[in-house]
Amino acid sequence: MLRPNMNYRELKDSYLFYNIAKKTREYTDAHPGIHIYRMGIGDVSLPLASSVIDALHRGVDDQAKKDSFRGYMPECGADFLKETIKGHYGRRGVDILNDEIFISSGASDELGNILDLFDRSSSALVIEPAYPAYVDASIMAGRRIIHLPAGDWNGFLPLPSKDTEGDLIYICSPNNPTGAVYSRDMLKKWVDFANSRGSVILFDAAYEAFIEDEDVPHSIFEIEGAETCAIEICSLSKTAGFTGTRLGYTVIPRSLIREGMCFNDMWVRNRTTKTNGVSYIIQRGGAAVFTEEGIKEIGEAIKYYKENARILMRALDDARVWYCGGKNAPYIWLRCPGDMGSWEFFNLLLHRIQVVGTPGVGFGAAGEGYFRLSSFGSREDTKEAAERMRELLVSL
Ligand code: PLP
Repeated sequence: MLRPNMNYRELKDSYLFYNIAKKTREYTDAHPGIHIYRMGIGDVSLPLASSVIDALHRGVDDQAKKDSFRGYMPECGADFLKETIKGHYGRRGVDILNDEIFISSGASDELGNILDLFDRSSSALVIEPAYPAYVDASIMAGRRIIHLPAGDWNGFLPLPSKDTEGDLIYICSPNNPTGAVYSRDMLKKWVDFANSRGSVILFDAAYEAFIEDEDVPHSIFEIEGAETCAIEICSLSKTAGFTGTRLGYTVIPRSLIREGMCFNDMWVRNRTTKTNGVSYIIQRGGAAVFTEEGIKEIGEAIKYYKENARILMRALDDARVWYCGGKNAPYIWLRCPGDMGSWEFFNLLLHRIQVVGTPGVGFGAAGEGYFRLSSFGSREDTKEAAERMRELLVSL
């Protein structure tokens, strides 16, 4: 008889965004017409860059003509897009081959699918608080999860110790939700650890474009030794506003080998079996992101979000609230004042000043007592929310 994948029973219901929406709706129903300042949003609010839009239009036109029409695309991605990504890495001093780049429909897809490469008996180390997909995708695959709690005592950037285990190691830097970023030396410790025990790091670089400090690595492959222990998963969602357009890329070095098996070859085999690639039109749009014009335009959008982050951080500084992130990331992670719990603080902000953020406990138990603010909102709302928070927090 057919048996369902019983691992799904182990999944906790994800109440986070459902509960946020429900509580907000209850409040607006009771206060019709009231404006809510949405600072919890993890989606971008600015439209695509005009160079991307132009490239998408040209892609559509290509599909209308016999000579330029494209049918199935290469499963692992078009060379014209891989070339631009290779150039992007090259500008950071990282040399990768076209064959080491895999074009995807986004980081979420890859974070789940890539687990096909590893035996089910291999454990997954998740640094928490964490992007919920790491835990959920690992549970679905029936993996043992090792939770490594992070806290303000280590700036939410834990390092491996002699007791650390984990065959797969999830590292997200800049981090969602904490906004914390690993330095070069810290990442080197994780790379040495992974190489010493044969682990593989799944490096989530979804927010690399937000890094502004010169010495902070954008890619795990800026770290010596990473080519034998890491896979990097990237996305154009936050880099270039592709959350609804869907495009990402994954880098698997040819030298990542365990027990004689080359993970790059395995992923080629996987992709050529399980996908027929990403749409030609979308890949054309993606290739515009890393042109001179594209880089300039996406830089402007990121600047806008960063100014939002600065506005929020100034308010928290004035109110002497502890936080991390905001500088090299679009998220600000703050400690709820007066030992409040995450949901208690959520209710306070909603009911007193109509600001909605994300309770930290939604990212794992280590997030209790913390709260995430996002810089992806509109400037007007961000300014008003910051002002309201400053006044409220100072008065507590
Ligand atoms: N990884 C992290 C850390 C994220 O925060 C997100 C989206 O919010 C993703 C991956 C998923 O990105 P994508 O839109 O490319 O699926």
